[in-house]
Amino acid sequence: MSQELDWASLSFGYHPTDYNVRCHYRDGKWGEIEVSSSDTINIHMAATALHYGQEIFEGLKAFRGKDGKVRIFRLEENARRIADSARGLMMAPVPEDLFREMVIKVVKLNERFIPPYESGASLYIRPLEIGMSAQVGVKPAREYLFLVLVTPVGPYFKEGFRPTNICVMRQYDRVAPKGTGRWKVGGNYAASLTAGEHAHELGYSAVLYLDPKEKKYLDECGPANFFAIKDGKYITPESESILPSITNMSLQQIARDMGIDVECRHIPLEELADVQEAAACGTAAVASPVAQVHDLDTGHKYIISKDGQPGPVVTALYNRLRAIQYGEVEDTHGWNTVLDI
Ligand SMILES: *Cc1c(COP(=O)(O)O)cnc(C)c1O
Repeated sequence: MSQELDWASLSFGYHPTDYNVRCHYRDGKWGEIEVSSSDTINIHMAATALHYGQEIFEGLKAFRGKDGKVRIFRLEENARRIADSARGLMMAPVPEDLFREMVIKVVKLNERFIPPYESGASLYIRPLEIGMSAQVGVKPAREYLFLVLVTPVGPYFKEGFRPTNICVMRQYDRVAPKGTGRWKVGGNYAASLTAGEHAHELGYSAVLYLDPKEKKYLDECGPANFFAIKDGKYITPESESILPSITNMSLQQIARDMGIDVECRHIPLEELADVQEAAACGTAAVASPVAQVHDLDTGHKYIISKDGQPGPVVTALYNRLRAIQYGEVEDTHGWNTVLDI
Protein backbone atom coordinates (compact mmCIF):
# COMPACT_ATOMS: atom_id res chain seq x y z
CA MET A 1 0.00 0.00 0.00
CA SER A 2 2.72 2.45 0.91
CA GLN A 3 4.39 1.84 -2.44
CA GLU A 4 1.29 3.26 -4.12
CA LEU A 5 1.44 6.58 -2.26
CA ASP A 6 2.45 9.57 -4.34
CA TRP A 7 4.70 11.04 -1.64
CA ALA A 8 5.69 14.22 -3.42
CA SER A 9 2.11 15.35 -3.96
CA LEU A 10 0.84 14.63 -0.43
CA SER A 11 -0.63 17.71 1.19
CA PHE A 12 -0.21 18.84 4.80
CA GLY A 13 -3.40 16.96 5.60
CA TYR A 14 -4.15 13.67 7.30
CA HIS A 15 -3.35 10.39 5.67
CA PRO A 16 -4.19 7.32 7.79
CA THR A 17 -1.34 5.12 9.04
CA ASP A 18 -1.28 1.76 10.82
CA TYR A 19 -0.86 2.68 14.49
CA ASN A 20 -0.89 5.39 17.12
CA VAL A 21 0.36 5.13 20.71
CA ARG A 22 -1.45 6.23 23.85
CA CYS A 23 -0.85 6.58 27.55
CA HIS A 24 -3.36 7.47 30.27
CA TYR A 25 -2.71 9.47 33.42
CA ARG A 26 -4.95 8.22 36.23
CA ASP A 27 -4.73 8.21 40.02
CA GLY A 28 -1.76 10.53 39.89
CA LYS A 29 0.43 8.46 37.57
CA TRP A 30 1.10 7.60 33.95
CA GLY A 31 0.16 4.04 32.93
CA GLU A 32 1.48 1.61 30.33
CA ILE A 33 2.01 2.57 26.69
CA GLU A 34 -0.83 1.23 24.53
CA VAL A 35 -0.57 0.61 20.80
CA SER A 36 -3.79 1.29 18.94
CA SER A 37 -4.88 0.76 15.35
CA SER A 38 -8.04 2.81 15.81
CA ASP A 39 -8.07 6.40 14.69
CA THR A 40 -10.82 7.44 17.09
CA ILE A 41 -10.82 8.00 20.83
CA ASN A 42 -13.50 7.41 23.41
CA ILE A 43 -14.02 10.50 25.51
CA HIS A 44 -16.50 11.49 28.20
CA MET A 45 -18.89 14.18 26.98
CA ALA A 46 -18.05 16.31 30.03
CA ALA A 47 -14.25 16.05 29.57
CA THR A 48 -12.35 19.26 30.29
CA ALA A 49 -10.70 19.13 26.86
CA LEU A 50 -14.11 19.62 25.25
CA HIS A 51 -15.45 22.30 27.56
CA TYR A 52 -12.53 24.28 28.88
CA GLY A 53 -9.87 23.74 26.26
CA GLN A 54 -7.39 21.60 28.18
CA GLU A 55 -5.56 20.57 25.02
CA ILE A 56 -1.89 20.96 24.12
CA PHE A 57 0.09 19.52 21.25
CA GLU A 58 3.44 19.26 19.50
CA GLY A 59 4.68 18.90 15.95
CA LEU A 60 7.93 17.32 14.79
CA LYS A 61 9.17 15.25 11.89
CA ALA A 62 11.03 12.07 11.00
CA PHE A 63 13.07 11.99 7.80
CA ARG A 64 14.39 9.15 5.67
CA GLY A 65 17.96 10.18 5.01
CA LYS A 66 20.22 9.93 2.01
CA ASP A 67 21.85 6.92 3.73
CA GLY A 68 18.46 5.21 4.23
CA LYS A 69 18.49 5.86 7.99
CA VAL A 70 15.54 7.45 9.78
CA ARG A 71 16.17 10.60 11.80
CA ILE A 72 13.84 12.40 14.20
CA PHE A 73 14.74 16.05 14.62
CA ARG A 74 15.30 17.45 18.15
CA LEU A 75 12.64 15.41 19.91
CA GLU A 76 14.08 16.27 23.34
CA GLU A 77 13.13 19.90 22.73
CA ASN A 78 9.55 18.95 21.91
CA ALA A 79 9.45 16.79 25.04
CA ARG A 80 10.54 19.75 27.15
CA ARG A 81 8.12 22.13 25.46
CA ILE A 82 5.01 19.97 25.85
CA ALA A 83 5.80 19.55 29.55
CA ASP A 84 5.99 23.36 29.79
CA SER A 85 2.68 23.68 27.98
CA ALA A 86 1.16 21.15 30.41
CA ARG A 87 2.30 23.17 33.41
CA GLY A 88 0.86 26.28 31.75
CA LEU A 89 -2.61 24.71 31.53
CA MET A 90 -2.52 22.85 34.87
CA MET A 91 -2.26 19.49 33.10
CA ALA A 92 -0.10 16.51 34.10
CA PRO A 93 3.33 16.93 32.40
CA VAL A 94 4.40 13.92 30.32
CA PRO A 95 7.82 12.73 31.57
CA GLU A 96 10.47 13.40 28.90
CA ASP A 97 11.54 9.73 28.78
CA LEU A 98 7.96 8.62 28.18
CA PHE A 99 7.59 11.19 25.39
CA ARG A 100 10.79 9.95 23.79
CA GLU A 101 9.82 6.29 24.04
CA MET A 102 6.37 6.87 22.56
CA VAL A 103 7.60 9.03 19.67
CA ILE A 104 10.25 6.47 18.70
CA LYS A 105 7.76 3.62 19.05
CA VAL A 106 5.09 5.18 16.84
CA VAL A 107 7.62 6.03 14.12
CA LYS A 108 8.99 2.47 14.10
CA LEU A 109 5.48 0.97 14.03
CA ASN A 110 4.62 3.08 10.98
CA GLU A 111 7.93 2.66 9.18
CA ARG A 112 6.24 1.93 5.87
CA PHE A 113 4.78 5.45 5.89
CA ILE A 114 8.13 7.21 6.17
CA PRO A 115 8.57 8.76 2.72
CA PRO A 116 11.69 7.93 0.70
CA TYR A 117 14.56 10.42 0.69
CA GLU A 118 14.15 11.44 -2.95
CA SER A 119 10.53 12.58 -2.46
CA GLY A 120 11.42 15.53 -0.20
CA ALA A 121 8.49 14.40 1.96
CA SER A 122 8.60 13.41 5.65
CA LEU A 123 6.64 11.76 8.42
CA TYR A 124 4.89 14.36 10.56
CA ILE A 125 4.60 13.39 14.23
CA ARG A 126 1.75 14.90 16.23
CA PRO A 127 1.77 14.33 20.01
CA LEU A 128 -1.22 15.70 21.89
CA GLU A 129 -2.49 15.73 25.45
CA ILE A 130 -6.09 16.27 26.55
CA GLY A 131 -7.99 16.55 29.82
CA MET A 132 -10.26 13.49 30.03
CA SER A 133 -12.18 13.63 33.27
CA ALA A 134 -15.77 14.77 33.54
CA GLN A 135 -15.94 18.18 35.12
CA VAL A 136 -18.51 20.92 34.69
CA GLY A 137 -16.96 23.25 37.24
CA VAL A 138 -13.94 25.17 35.92
CA LYS A 139 -11.14 23.06 37.33
CA PRO A 140 -8.25 21.08 35.88
CA ALA A 141 -9.00 17.45 35.04
CA ARG A 142 -7.62 14.65 37.18
CA GLU A 143 -7.18 12.30 34.21
CA TYR A 144 -5.30 12.88 30.97
CA LEU A 145 -4.63 11.11 27.70
CA PHE A 146 -1.33 11.55 25.89
CA LEU A 147 -1.45 10.28 22.33
CA VAL A 148 1.03 10.33 19.45
CA LEU A 149 -0.15 9.98 15.87
CA VAL A 150 1.84 10.22 12.66
CA THR A 151 0.95 11.07 9.09
CA PRO A 152 3.12 11.37 5.99
CA VAL A 153 3.32 14.90 4.57
CA GLY A 154 4.60 16.05 1.19
CA PRO A 155 7.28 18.67 0.64
CA TYR A 156 6.12 22.12 1.82
CA PHE A 157 7.33 23.97 -1.25
CA LYS A 158 5.69 22.16 -4.14
CA GLU A 159 6.19 25.01 -6.61
CA GLY A 160 9.70 25.77 -5.37
CA PHE A 161 11.17 27.84 -2.56
CA ARG A 162 9.46 31.19 -3.28
CA PRO A 163 8.65 34.21 -1.10
CA THR A 164 5.06 35.10 -0.30
CA ASN A 165 3.34 38.24 0.99
CA ILE A 166 2.08 38.54 4.55
CA CYS A 167 0.01 41.23 6.27
CA VAL A 168 -0.43 43.14 9.51
CA MET A 169 -4.05 43.59 10.69
CA ARG A 170 -4.53 45.31 14.04
CA GLN A 171 -8.13 44.28 14.57
CA TYR A 172 -7.10 40.77 15.59
CA ASP A 173 -4.90 39.31 18.33
CA ARG A 174 -4.21 35.61 18.64
CA VAL A 175 -3.13 35.70 22.28
CA ALA A 176 -3.08 38.05 25.27
CA PRO A 177 0.07 39.84 26.50
CA LYS A 178 0.59 37.50 29.44
CA GLY A 179 -1.66 34.75 28.11
CA THR A 180 -1.08 31.35 26.57
CA GLY A 181 1.01 32.41 23.55
CA ARG A 182 4.17 30.87 24.97
CA TRP A 183 2.56 27.42 25.10
CA LYS A 184 1.43 25.20 22.25
CA VAL A 185 -2.28 25.26 22.95
CA GLY A 186 -5.06 24.31 20.52
CA GLY A 187 -7.12 27.26 21.75
CA ASN A 188 -4.52 29.71 20.41
CA TYR A 189 -5.18 28.27 16.98
CA ALA A 190 -8.95 28.52 17.34
CA ALA A 191 -8.42 32.16 18.29
CA SER A 192 -6.41 32.76 15.12
CA LEU A 193 -8.75 31.19 12.55
CA THR A 194 -10.80 34.31 11.77
CA ALA A 195 -7.71 36.43 11.17
CA GLY A 196 -6.00 33.68 9.16
CA GLU A 197 -8.96 33.10 6.89
CA HIS A 198 -9.40 36.84 6.43
CA ALA A 199 -5.75 37.17 5.39
CA HIS A 200 -6.06 34.23 2.97
CA GLU A 201 -9.15 35.78 1.38
CA LEU A 202 -7.11 38.91 0.75
CA GLY A 203 -4.38 36.85 -0.88
CA TYR A 204 -1.82 36.76 1.96
CA SER A 205 -0.15 33.57 3.13
CA ALA A 206 -0.21 34.61 6.82
CA VAL A 207 -0.81 37.34 9.38
CA LEU A 208 2.23 38.90 11.00
CA TYR A 209 0.96 39.62 14.51
CA LEU A 210 2.14 42.61 16.51
CA ASP A 211 2.63 42.35 20.25
CA PRO A 212 -0.87 42.37 21.75
CA LYS A 213 -0.06 44.97 24.41
CA GLU A 214 1.36 47.93 22.50
CA LYS A 215 0.81 46.79 18.90
CA LYS A 216 4.24 48.18 18.20
CA TYR A 217 6.66 45.28 17.99
CA LEU A 218 6.69 42.18 15.81
CA ASP A 219 5.44 39.00 17.46
CA GLU A 220 5.06 36.02 15.13
CA CYS A 221 3.46 34.77 11.93
CA GLY A 222 0.44 32.80 13.14
CA PRO A 223 1.73 29.25 13.55
CA ALA A 224 5.34 30.20 12.77
CA ASN A 225 8.03 32.43 14.26
CA PHE A 226 9.50 35.34 12.31
CA PHE A 227 13.08 36.38 11.63
CA ALA A 228 14.81 38.86 9.38
CA ILE A 229 18.31 39.52 8.10
CA LYS A 230 19.43 43.08 8.73
CA ASP A 231 22.92 44.28 7.80
CA GLY A 232 24.25 40.74 8.07
CA LYS A 233 22.58 40.02 11.42
CA TYR A 234 19.83 37.52 12.22
CA ILE A 235 17.14 39.39 14.15
CA THR A 236 14.10 37.74 15.70
CA PRO A 237 11.43 39.04 18.11
CA GLU A 238 11.72 38.65 21.83
CA SER A 239 8.24 38.43 23.33
CA GLU A 240 6.27 36.80 26.14
CA SER A 241 3.40 36.08 23.79
CA ILE A 242 5.11 33.94 21.16
CA LEU A 243 5.91 30.25 21.06
CA PRO A 244 9.61 29.36 21.40
CA SER A 245 10.05 27.72 17.99
CA ILE A 246 12.56 24.88 17.83
CA THR A 247 13.17 25.68 14.16
CA ASN A 248 13.98 29.30 15.04
CA MET A 249 16.31 28.13 17.82
CA SER A 250 18.06 25.79 15.34
CA LEU A 251 18.36 28.43 12.60
CA GLN A 252 19.88 30.82 15.15
CA GLN A 253 22.52 28.20 16.00
CA ILE A 254 23.24 27.57 12.31
CA ALA A 255 23.54 31.33 11.76
CA ARG A 256 26.09 31.56 14.61
CA ASP A 257 27.95 28.59 13.12
CA MET A 258 28.16 30.59 9.88
CA GLY A 259 29.56 33.60 11.74
CA ILE A 260 26.29 35.56 11.66
CA ASP A 261 25.38 37.53 14.80
CA VAL A 262 21.98 36.80 16.33
CA GLU A 263 19.84 39.39 18.09
CA CYS A 264 16.71 38.33 19.93
CA ARG A 265 15.00 41.60 20.90
CA HIS A 266 11.98 43.84 20.41
CA ILE A 267 11.63 44.68 16.72
CA PRO A 268 9.42 47.68 15.92
CA LEU A 269 7.27 47.13 12.81
CA GLU A 270 8.91 50.12 11.09
CA GLU A 271 12.29 48.41 11.29
CA LEU A 272 11.10 46.20 8.42
CA ALA A 273 11.99 49.13 6.16
CA ASP A 274 15.66 48.39 6.89
CA VAL A 275 15.82 44.60 6.55
CA GLN A 276 17.16 42.81 3.49
CA GLU A 277 15.51 39.40 4.01
CA ALA A 278 12.75 37.90 6.13
CA ALA A 279 11.06 34.56 6.70
CA ALA A 280 8.49 32.72 8.77
CA CYS A 281 9.94 29.60 10.40
CA GLY A 282 8.55 26.40 11.86
CA THR A 283 8.62 22.62 11.51
CA ALA A 284 6.22 22.55 8.54
CA ALA A 285 8.27 24.70 6.15
CA VAL A 286 11.61 25.18 8.00
CA ALA A 287 11.74 28.71 6.55
CA SER A 288 9.18 30.35 4.31
CA PRO A 289 10.66 33.51 2.78
CA VAL A 290 8.70 36.75 2.85
CA ALA A 291 8.49 39.02 -0.20
CA GLN A 292 6.41 41.89 1.19
CA VAL A 293 4.68 42.85 4.42
CA HIS A 294 1.55 44.94 3.90
CA ASP A 295 0.27 46.99 6.80
CA LEU A 296 -3.46 46.93 6.04
CA ASP A 297 -4.26 49.68 8.56
CA THR A 298 -1.84 52.31 7.27
CA GLY A 299 -1.57 51.03 3.70
CA HIS A 300 2.23 50.92 3.99
CA LYS A 301 4.01 48.19 2.04
CA TYR A 302 7.38 46.94 3.23
CA ILE A 303 9.10 45.53 0.15
CA ILE A 304 11.61 42.99 1.43
CA SER A 305 12.42 41.01 -1.72
CA LYS A 306 12.70 43.39 -4.66
CA ASP A 307 13.07 40.68 -7.30
CA GLY A 308 10.57 38.22 -5.80
CA GLN A 309 13.36 35.74 -5.03
CA PRO A 310 14.43 34.39 -1.64
CA GLY A 311 17.52 36.11 -0.24
CA PRO A 312 20.92 34.39 0.05
CA VAL A 313 21.07 34.12 3.86
CA VAL A 314 17.55 32.71 4.29
CA THR A 315 18.30 30.26 1.47
CA ALA A 316 21.61 29.17 3.03
CA LEU A 317 20.02 28.68 6.48
CA TYR A 318 17.12 26.72 4.98
CA ASN A 319 19.44 24.47 2.96
CA ARG A 320 21.70 23.81 5.92
CA LEU A 321 18.89 22.82 8.27
CA ARG A 322 17.30 20.53 5.67
CA ALA A 323 20.69 18.95 4.98
CA ILE A 324 21.07 18.13 8.71
CA GLN A 325 17.56 16.65 8.84
CA TYR A 326 18.16 14.43 5.81
CA GLY A 327 21.60 13.34 6.98
CA GLU A 328 23.42 15.02 4.09
CA VAL A 329 25.85 16.85 6.35
CA GLU A 330 27.30 16.13 9.77
CA ASP A 331 24.94 16.71 12.68
CA THR A 332 27.50 18.60 14.76
CA HIS A 333 25.04 19.58 17.51
CA GLY A 334 23.58 16.11 17.98
CA TRP A 335 20.08 17.19 17.01
CA ASN A 336 18.96 13.97 15.33
CA THR A 337 17.79 10.77 16.96
CA VAL A 338 18.88 8.11 14.45
CA LEU A 339 16.64 5.02 14.57
CA ASP A 340 17.97 1.49 14.22
CA ILE A 341 15.48 0.45 11.53
C1 LIG B 1 4.49 25.23 16.61
C2 LIG B 1 4.54 26.71 16.53
C3 LIG B 1 5.64 27.40 15.97
C4 LIG B 1 6.81 26.69 15.35
O1 LIG B 1 7.54 25.93 16.25
P1 LIG B 1 8.55 24.81 15.74
O2 LIG B 1 9.02 24.16 16.98
O3 LIG B 1 9.62 25.50 15.01
O4 LIG B 1 7.76 23.92 14.84
C5 LIG B 1 5.62 28.78 15.99
N1 LIG B 1 4.59 29.47 16.51
C6 LIG B 1 3.51 28.85 17.03
C7 LIG B 1 2.41 29.66 17.58
C8 LIG B 1 3.45 27.46 17.05
O5 LIG B 1 2.38 26.86 17.57
